[in-house]
Amino acid sequence: MRRSVTYKISFFTTLIVLMNSCDFKYGHHTKEKTQVLCTTGIIAECLANLLPSEKFEIFSLMGPGVDPHSYKATYGDIRKIRDADILISNGLYLEGKLEDIFLQLGKDKPHYMLGDFINDNQLIYQQGQKDPHIWHDVALWSNALKALIQVDEFKGYANSERSMRYLSQLDSLDNSIQKLINSIPIKKRILVTSHDAFSYYGKRYGLEIAALQGFSTLAEFGIGDIKRIRELVLKNEIPVVFPEHSLSDRSMRALLSGIDQSQLKVSMGEQLYSDALSTVDEGSHSYILMLSNNTNTITNGLSVKHKDIENRSVSHFKVLESSSPLRNVARNLSI
Ligand SMILES: [Zn+2]
Repeated sequence: MRRSVTYKISFFTTLIVLMNSCDFKYGHHTKEKTQVLCTTGIIAECLANLLPSEKFEIFSLMGPGVDPHSYKATYGDIRKIRDADILISNGLYLEGKLEDIFLQLGKDKPHYMLGDFINDNQLIYQQGQKDPHIWHDVALWSNALKALIQVDEFKGYANSERSMRYLSQLDSLDNSIQKLINSIPIKKRILVTSHDAFSYYGKRYGLEIAALQGFSTLAEFGIGDIKRIRELVLKNEIPVVFPEHSLSDRSMRALLSGIDQSQLKVSMGEQLYSDALSTVDEGSHSYILMLSNNTNTITNGLSVKHKDIENRSVSHFKVLESSSPLRNVARNLSI
């Protein structure tokens, strides 16, 4: 019990520091500072925590909740890409066609891809393709960010107090996630989601991952996929499956409709944030909050004891949630 309290406090401290540090823009920019254009809000927010705001203006093409797999560049985006001084993308084909546009329009300016800073043997492959969801392994992502800020354009700030502080927060986040996932009974560490975005998370923190769609949201799912996941859920008595924030919960509803609830009670869990930050109101508007909220949601959902499943309802989740580290943060901040 004492150990549990200790790591929740550490989680709490990390989150407190983070809440004041989000400093990037979705949208237009001025020319007074070096303009750094990132594809996703996740990249932009992390970079804004590493680089000084008086020198760099960092912004993201994709807004909150936008699915990067299906994103199509607008005419306005083309202009922003041309106007930027430095381009940063995730790479590994996360951004689909946008990646090609970056490569074409970015020929005359520095363009870096986070995926390029990760060794091939650390990447996850599926049917010969590289899984692009590298940010869900905090240690891997932190190392890629660390390598990114060593490039010529940023390296003057690589060892700044600001960047060292943020990287240290990411270390704490990584440890806190591991401790919380370790609190889930081993047999219950199976995460069922809509699309296959959490393989890096599962590999790093010790969860088996099962998804209806492949690692692109553009992939379709079929009856065979539903049957495969349903058998896994029944065999392992998985109490909850998780929809994703930027996707329809259609696939999860299809899965649940195929399970005889008199045989096993399986619930729809809270949404996970897989491929994009949320709006400020939704509370997952920074990388650290996104990973923290996901971990709380997963831990609360999968830690439900079997005897509780019978009477499980939305209110049951509220009881569990109120004792989570994130809720404690919210409560303490409001005092
Ligand atoms: Zn994805």
